[in-house]
Amino acid sequence: MAFRLVTNYASYIMNNNPFYRIPYYPEFNRFSPDTAEMAIQMLLKESHDAVEQLERSCKPLWQEMVVPLYEAERHLSIAWSLLHHMLSVANSAEWRSVEEELQPKIISFYQRVGQSKRFYEMYCAIRNSDEDAQDAVRQRILSKIIQAAEHSGVALDVNQQMEFNELETELGRLATKFNNNLLDARKAFSLTLTDVGEVAGLPADLRAITAAAARDAGSSAATADNGPWRITLDYAVYAPFMKHSQNREARETLYRQHVTLASHGTADNQPLIDKILALKQRKAAILGFQSAAELSLSRKMAPDVAAVYKLFDDLASASRQAMAEEQRGLLEFACANGFEEDALQPWDLSFWAERQHERLYGYSEEELSQYFQFPKVLKGMFDLAERIFNIKISESSGEVPVWHDDVRFYKVFDQDDNYIACFYLDPYSRPATKQGGAWMNDFRTRERSSDGAVQLPMAVMCCNQSVPIEDQPSLMRMGEVTTLFHEFGHALQHILTSIDEPMVSGINGIEWDAVEIASQFMENWCYEKNTLKSISAHVVSGAELPDELFEKIVLSKNHLSATAMMRQIFLSATDMDLYARYPASKWSTPNDVKCENARKYDYPMIDDDRFLCSFAHIFGGGYSAGYYSYKWSEVLSADCFAAFKESGVDNAEALRQTGLRMRETIMGLGGSVPPMEAFKAFRGRDPDIKSLLRLNGIVGRAVCERVGS
Ligand code: ZN
Repeated sequence: MAFRLVTNYASYIMNNNPFYRIPYYPEFNRFSPDTAEMAIQMLLKESHDAVEQLERSCKPLWQEMVVPLYEAERHLSIAWSLLHHMLSVANSAEWRSVEEELQPKIISFYQRVGQSKRFYEMYCAIRNSDEDAQDAVRQRILSKIIQAAEHSGVALDVNQQMEFNELETELGRLATKFNNNLLDARKAFSLTLTDVGEVAGLPADLRAITAAAARDAGSSAATADNGPWRITLDYAVYAPFMKHSQNREARETLYRQHVTLASHGTADNQPLIDKILALKQRKAAILGFQSAAELSLSRKMAPDVAAVYKLFDDLASASRQAMAEEQRGLLEFACANGFEEDALQPWDLSFWAERQHERLYGYSEEELSQYFQFPKVLKGMFDLAERIFNIKISESSGEVPVWHDDVRFYKVFDQDDNYIACFYLDPYSRPATKQGGAWMNDFRTRERSSDGAVQLPMAVMCCNQSVPIEDQPSLMRMGEVTTLFHEFGHALQHILTSIDEPMVSGINGIEWDAVEIASQFMENWCYEKNTLKSISAHVVSGAELPDELFEKIVLSKNHLSATAMMRQIFLSATDMDLYARYPASKWSTPNDVKCENARKYDYPMIDDDRFLCSFAHIFGGGYSAGYYSYKWSEVLSADCFAAFKESGVDNAEALRQTGLRMRETIMGLGGSVPPMEAFKAFRGRDPDIKSLLRLNGIVGRAVCERVGS
């Protein structure tokens, strides 16, 4: 009797726990770290038991294995993702400690499922013979799951598996060591300037930051006006210092330190680079691939290494001449303004680029932000999406619980007024509790259960834009406007899905080098005249953005764009060579690979340069043999945008037709088909790099206008 009472009480507690089996509209207002911990522990146990049971008894059938396994993880995965959401929007020591405690358990649970040999064999059998799983979408889902399992070593024999696991552990350790060395090296250097003449050109905020750094380092009397100023290699200090400091000697010192970071002494990353490259090649070989690059590309949209190199060649040959002209113009500008040598050194480039930019397009961020009132920007952005994709967005804040008073809630309806999706928007910066940057997350994915009921997709967008002051709305900087459009692009792809299989509906299942297509596509509208006018109204006069300022914004976006393009190609090609072709007889060290690419893509560099030692994207992060993804997806998003320009952005019907096509393909199909298939279905042809070159102003403006008209 007593026992029964206790179980009833426990289930009463659980059923009242807002984190346990979270309802469609989560009760954010009732969330707490305690309830999260209790619920997730319970869900872990339930999921674990369900998985064990399934592993013992499941049959190789979609309905009897894939569906119940998904169900077994469903409540756990939503609870875990909402816990992370709370960490990023309402951070506190309590939330962090719950996450830290649970994380190892969650990781080992998902590893256990992902590496189960039994499930792997079931998936293979279902792919081959279950009649319920022979359609293209389910075949793609199964292939992805099977591939992920194989890449985690599930199909290897015992000895190989042991070596594979050791490699994985060692690679994890080396990546951490690489990043730590870089941090230590960055921290170890500083340059203290004491004379006011030595900080000539630095903006007031940079003087204040560097004086504060000097105070922290022991110069208690340091002030922004009188120094001393402590200059470090933190990017937030280094980048603006290189742009603004008139002290050429200090710029050279900092530059030399910057490009040789972590290349000597106790924090030397060079031996780690050799090891990382060798181990990644070995790991790829064990899994049956020719190179680490082939392994990376097997999971991506780019078909093979050759296609990636072709992209580099095409973009470089179109940009080389334009870059030479940009650099010639920059040198002429510098010489006309007091520079007395024949050539700009690498530590001169940012400085003179910034002076040229000021001269050509001189408008201030503040002047521009007077035109971008948040409510107006939001309305213009929603109007655009409504026109292009034939939907209706209506604010329903107050109808559902939220995690902060700033958060807004919206419902999305189709052309026949059917409710099809919803999303939250958390716009403003809250430095004390909210993670920096901007992101979009999927809270719910569109899916149809066996009884035919559909769960509608639900997204969340979080930004960190300027807060409203008193009765004035948030005035957005241009960068905040483009960020909002970017995240909205991700959200639109998630909520406009037409797919009922949750593993590939919305943003799920999209290849890494294709996930930014929808987001960058939306960003491009920020530089389209009608859109920019429709989202602008001066905070005092109410006037829309003047033409003259619009022209400046577009030109300023493309200032030195060919130079930037060549730099990205240099970085991408170096990454690809290291993981696809190194080692080879023509190169004795990874540094040789870098030097060859610097020559090939005209990238200026000093002999002592060891920047690979700080290329954390590809040695300490997830971008190895994947750095090209930035350019890859930009080409596709620019080409999608060009489809709208070609059909005429002023023609409402043409816009709607093009939008409908995009909604039915790229936006609607998401991860359910190979991205190239979705792209071709939209565009009716292969991607064309010229759209990106036009958008970046690398090929002539005249061409650009012709296409636009
Ligand atoms: Zn993005």
